Amino acid sequence: MTQSRTSQSKTSQSRTSDAVDGQRLWDRHMALARFGARDDGGVDRPTLSGVESEARAQVIAWGRRIGLKPFTDGIANLFLRYEGRDPALPPVVAGSHIDSQPTGGKFDGVFGVLAALEAVEAMAARGARPLRPIEIVAWTNEEGSRFAPGMTGSDVFTGTKTLDQVLPIRDAQGVSIADAVKAILAGDQGVPLRPFGLPIAAYVEPHIEQASVLEAAGIPLGVVTGIQGTRRYRVTVTGEAAHAGTALRADRRDALMAAVRMIAAMDQAAMEPADTLLTVGLMQVTPNAPSVVPAEVFFSIDLRHPDNTIVDRVDGEIRRIVEAERGPCQVALKQIQHSPSLTFAPAIRDAIGKAAGALDIPAMDVYSAAGHDARQLHYVCPAGMIFVPCRGGISHNPAEWAEPAHLTAGTQVLADVLWDLANRA
Ligand SMILES: [Zn+2]
Repeated sequence: MTQSRTSQSKTSQSRTSDAVDGQRLWDRHMALARFGARDDGGVDRPTLSGVESEARAQVIAWGRRIGLKPFTDGIANLFLRYEGRDPALPPVVAGSHIDSQPTGGKFDGVFGVLAALEAVEAMAARGARPLRPIEIVAWTNEEGSRFAPGMTGSDVFTGTKTLDQVLPIRDAQGVSIADAVKAILAGDQGVPLRPFGLPIAAYVEPHIEQASVLEAAGIPLGVVTGIQGTRRYRVTVTGEAAHAGTALRADRRDALMAAVRMIAAMDQAAMEPADTLLTVGLMQVTPNAPSVVPAEVFFSIDLRHPDNTIVDRVDGEIRRIVEAERGPCQVALKQIQHSPSLTFAPAIRDAIGKAAGALDIPAMDVYSAAGHDARQLHYVCPAGMIFVPCRGGISHNPAEWAEPAHLTAGTQVLADVLWDLANRA
């Protein structure tokens, strides 16, 4: 009786997070950063490359050491499976990506994969077996810098895109995704292929914030409420080249003057509310000569806001403005991306908040300004994200930095969240 009471109280007090090893977690971040290491301390690890293959083999080796079974699929997503008491139940999945931008850092994506591995290792160390399997995932081509656009692995896994749509995409050297995937899969040792779209019970993605809200607030953990909506466009304004000294104003079809009127009006239209973000980051003027009236202007628009109704309102304004301000020029507006804003599942956000509270780790709700694989997963299962601060909000930069204590805190929360979710029937 006494015996059983003692062991009862022991289990109720100890948590998966107790076995999280912050030093091991940190050492693994530094170890993975050697694959594709840059001289300036950053990381250049293109998706589906030789260095990513080496990093992948390292992650598989760490997983195998604690008995995890690796799996992959036709787009080379990597899964490491910790078996549950009922292997037939859909798994709880956690992770992110291990590819980087050419000027990447040590933490973007990597933290999500290593936090998930550490959380499962903590369970394995306690001999704890959850009801559902837990799988660690590294999605292929999150970054989109070698093959554009990104999120290829999660797009294909969730059915947002088909394999046939993405396989022909080529990098700057002319190598196709099809050939790059073939090369990566050939480098795997005994990693079985699985079909896409296996059912998932829940998805949790830990990530560095890549913004400075948490740092400014002095809070080590963000419960991510959602991802802001994005629309991206390309605009071509066509006028007519003419002599800058002889062409009369009334006769001109000046493509740059029309573009400038459009951009100024769009900037005004996006003033309210103040957190509406409208960026014209690319502009090409043809012929781009000082004494020639511009014949053609090509520019980009990147529009973002957490509230879809705001994004949609400004979208309407943009479409009205290009017609209203084109003057004697022709205009072609093409929307190249539309990702609506989304709100993550309350069940996952609650689980994260509850786990942080139980661990006395201060947490706050934050919005994700950047896109992540969790966006794709959100449409197929309850999904959520855990953010940890990164110094100065700097990311996609060799100076990217996260404090070891914050990475540990985020991983402790993840460990208890995964244990909680994987034991729900
Ligand atoms: Zn990332």
